[in-house]
Amino acid sequence: MKTIGMLGGMSWESSTTYYQLINREVQRRVGGVHSARCLMHSFDFGEIAPLQNAGQWATADQRMVDAAANLERAGADFIMMLCNTMHRATPGIEAALKIPFLHIADPLAAAIRAKGLTKVGLIGTIHTMSQDGIIKGRLRAHDIATVTPNAADAAEINRVIYAELIRGEARPASRDVYRAVIARLVEQGAQGIVLGCTEIPMLIRDGDVDVPTFDTTTLHALAAVDFALG
Ligand code: GLU
Repeated sequence: MKTIGMLGGMSWESSTTYYQLINREVQRRVGGVHSARCLMHSFDFGEIAPLQNAGQWATADQRMVDAAANLERAGADFIMMLCNTMHRATPGIEAALKIPFLHIADPLAAAIRAKGLTKVGLIGTIHTMSQDGIIKGRLRAHDIATVTPNAADAAEINRVIYAELIRGEARPASRDVYRAVIARLVEQGAQGIVLGCTEIPMLIRDGDVDVPTFDTTTLHALAAVDFALG
């Protein structure tokens, strides 16, 4: 079994979900009392979010690169980042590493293609919804188009992530807001919805909306187990 190097703490809420998913899947597949071999660098998100909000992307990206390099030195066989937004640092991370980086959008694209879909709605942080170098460009490379919410809807999706989900709160009223935004994305032609923030599955699950949802946390966690055991 390979050792997984995890860039976590963005937020710790979703890192705990990843940790459970990965360990349960290893235990299910390997049996006995086995669990995942892993190392985690868990950031204090209170140091990362202000860099994002101030647009200090070079500094934020460098924090990811440095931590990934430390995990490699500590013995990780591959690296994954337990978050969508900071995948914007992928080029720098890949340039710094000798070991593979398991991009969150690759198992996502495979799952979308497996359902035969070519156009999906994307919800996530304001950065993930607006920047091309996080998820959108990577999906386009797999011939998958994305639609994103209008400005007012995007602001509300983003607010709920930082003000509620990252603080561990999943409010029914916010679920209703998300469902309404998703319905508008479906009106714009979305055949499915990418839950493109690793905390969103705390709020929205398959069955909450009329189209398939793609939970990046679960898809990425299971891909990591495949890679670790493969
Ligand atoms: N976990 C979130 C994501 O998947 C947001 C955290 C962040 O802004 O880095 O994008």
